[in-house]
Amino acid sequence: MPVTAQSTLKALTPWEIGVMFWAGPDPAETLAVLKRLGVRCGQLGVPGDLDISSSAAAWRNALAADSFTVYTVIAAFNGESYADVPTVRNTVGFIPPATRAEREKRMYAVSDFAAAVGVPGIGTHVGFIPEDDSDPDYIAMRELVRRICDHCAKHGQTFALETGQETAEALRSFLLDVNRDNLGINFDPANMILYGTGDPIEALGTLGTHVLSVHCKDGDWPPKGQPDALGQERPLGKGAVGVENFLNQLRAVGYNGPLAIEREVENPAERLADIESGISLLRRLTKAPR
Ligand code: MG
Repeated sequence: MPVTAQSTLKALTPWEIGVMFWAGPDPAETLAVLKRLGVRCGQLGVPGDLDISSSAAAWRNALAADSFTVYTVIAAFNGESYADVPTVRNTVGFIPPATRAEREKRMYAVSDFAAAVGVPGIGTHVGFIPEDDSDPDYIAMRELVRRICDHCAKHGQTFALETGQETAEALRSFLLDVNRDNLGINFDPANMILYGTGDPIEALGTLGTHVLSVHCKDGDWPPKGQPDALGQERPLGKGAVGVENFLNQLRAVGYNGPLAIEREVENPAERLADIESGISLLRRLTKAPR
């Protein structure tokens, strides 16, 4: 029987606390770290250079052995850099023309990998979507996202666009224009702040019906007067998001899926410690049992 989004998520409690984590070469080793954190669900990031052509069975077995639920596979691509706004514009997602075809192929491979692991959805940063819907890059992006959705649909999967690089209104009209039932968003409140695209709580109100999953991430606004600079990502609860307001807004838009903590700081020990304190914070705010 194919695994559907609903049957996978049924294994989880509403607002179950999870983690956005990156796949290493050994699935059991990656999962051991998560188990020590005391979570039993998450989103699996696959770096662009990870060989996913033959590792699906190993992931499927490791997840089953640990009763760990992955509900989204998130794709990143070779050659992406998040150094500053122009670099993101030039390197991330489907906008750079030189890598567009190769990244489209990779998305199909990620979708096939997710299906073989038993994961009901995939997601990625598609890059800066132009606001002008007659821009050739906008049209190319819309057609590409349609093709990915149609590929995912064959596996019964959803496709989630990571938020943050567009205003809520621009993203909403893009989603409506693509017009695919299995398309939605992975709402990341910190990204809206880091890119200076708008108040995330208000944006969540606008985009509420399109939310497939969320990142619990925090950050500070970009420095004033430096239009190319990104804001600083911060440990959950230490930035400008306002985690309590974020949770209240999630409740208001009727979201009851999992809460994946994301922390992107380079140092692994710092990242783990920050995720751990993020888990405690969410447990306290959601009154989730330990
Ligand atoms: Mg994110």
